[in-house]
Amino acid sequence: MSELIPIHPEVQAFLNREQKLLIGGQWVAAASGATFDTLNPATGQPLTRVAAGDQADIDRAVRAARAAFPAWAAIMPAQRERLLHKFADLMEAHKSELAQLEVLDNGKPWGSAYNVEVNVAIGQMRYYAGWCTKLTGETYPVSSPDFHVYSIRQPLGVCGAITPWNYSLVMATQKIGPALAAGNTLILKPAEQTPLTAIRLGELALEAGIPEGVFNVVTGFGETAGAALTAHPDVDKIAFTGSTEVGRRIIGASAGNLKHVSLELGGKSPLIIFDDADIPAAANAALWAIFANSGQNCVAGSRLYVQDRVYDAVQDALASAAPALKIGQGLDTGTQLGPLISQTQLDRVMHYVDAGVRDGAALITGGAKLDGAGYFMQPTIFGNVADDALIAAEEIFGPVLTVFRFNDESEAVARANSSKFGLAAGVWTRDLSRAHRLARTLNAGVVWVNTYDWFDPSVPFGGVGQSGYGRELGRQVMEMYTELKSVWVKL
Ligand code: NAP
Ligand code: MG
Repeated sequence: MSELIPIHPEVQAFLNREQKLLIGGQWVAAASGATFDTLNPATGQPLTRVAAGDQADIDRAVRAARAAFPAWAAIMPAQRERLLHKFADLMEAHKSELAQLEVLDNGKPWGSAYNVEVNVAIGQMRYYAGWCTKLTGETYPVSSPDFHVYSIRQPLGVCGAITPWNYSLVMATQKIGPALAAGNTLILKPAEQTPLTAIRLGELALEAGIPEGVFNVVTGFGETAGAALTAHPDVDKIAFTGSTEVGRRIIGASAGNLKHVSLELGGKSPLIIFDDADIPAAANAALWAIFANSGQNCVAGSRLYVQDRVYDAVQDALASAAPALKIGQGLDTGTQLGPLISQTQLDRVMHYVDAGVRDGAALITGGAKLDGAGYFMQPTIFGNVADDALIAAEEIFGPVLTVFRFNDESEAVARANSSKFGLAAGVWTRDLSRAHRLARTLNAGVVWVNTYDWFDPSVPFGGVGQSGYGRELGRQVMEMYTELKSVWVKL
């Protein structure tokens, strides 16, 4: 059934080179000469060395992006569209290579890299390629016949994208696509744990003919490269996806030149199963809502609320399905759960598991890390969790589910909404009115009804509360990468 996918020769060749920064169309070492290892989380072993960019490299990249901006903003939209489609074509042509790099760098299972992540990333690039030719202004019916008043939508200038490691490719294209489509130039600072696909995207962008300096990649650390990008006086916008804590720091650092900031942050998303739902389907959805990507998912359904009458059935289904999930390295096609991203992340998640046990929650299944190499742990489920327990309140970002019992709808909504986060929510019910009522009242940027974890480039995504502000995807993100200018003409 399962087989080990051999490493693609192109991927091996890529790993054999030392990786540099893409600045102004050139691959260059960090000015300081510093490098760092990126590891395979399934083995803990280094994959390759990557340049560690810092302030000096960000300065160079911003100068290159600024220099490239006027020509890129002025290029005919149809030409920009063709270049972005060419970029997507090349991603498609190198699909299995991109998927392998992501599996090796992040640890995720092959199927979710190849069938989900890379496809979604390509779909996003194509969707935004289309937006190049669809950005329009408006005319305004002012209260005087003596004027013609209209608006034009213009790019912001130089943008910075700072991305996390959990869906590195998608997080990158979600920002590259709209930024470039609107006529901005961009500097991408990928997560230190997963820099490889960002670098490969840089190579493909150059090959596609995207002009030098339009798309730059500066790998390195958040505290140096990321902080320098965020504070840079000549950067007009930062699009950030990551933790709430770093999001807060980004707002502070961006204040100097009042740059635009959009923030996609953490979550502690509730999934509510009512007793009239299709219970086997709901339980299966709840299983994947938390364990997909080993729980390292911003929209992970980490708080499961189950109505009294079906509580035992759902808990039993989860308790038998979770330990049966196949844990292993991502290039094994039978693997369902990969490792966590790093030793630090594994320690962090285990710290929460210990806190859960200490706080008196009932460990239903899992709770241990696996012996041997790599950062593996068991899928873990807690019941009998107090609403204010640490594991019920904080984002764990690992394969740890807390299950709660509820009695009626208003109680479920109140408890689901009692979180500082508000990224996503799920509702399972056959009652149509209740579904729509909850869709209105749940505190979240996205509500899934009788399903979970669906995305499409056309559908806006983002959070409320401490899950961030601004929206990515859809038409709405184009507003986040443009300014609207009003023009008054006296007739
Ligand atoms: P993170 O620690 O916040 O890091 C995200 C990015 O910010 C990384 O590239 C990081 O660089 C950089 N960074 C760190 N400190 C910085 C600073 N002072 N200034 C500028 N940049 C800085 O988050 P993570 O651990 O990679 O990812 C997990 C978090 O992301 C979770 O909270 C998850 O919920 C959230 N997330 C949200 C969404 C969403 O769409 N809402 C999607 C995915 C993930 P280094 O890699 O060098 O630290
Ligand atoms: Mg890695």
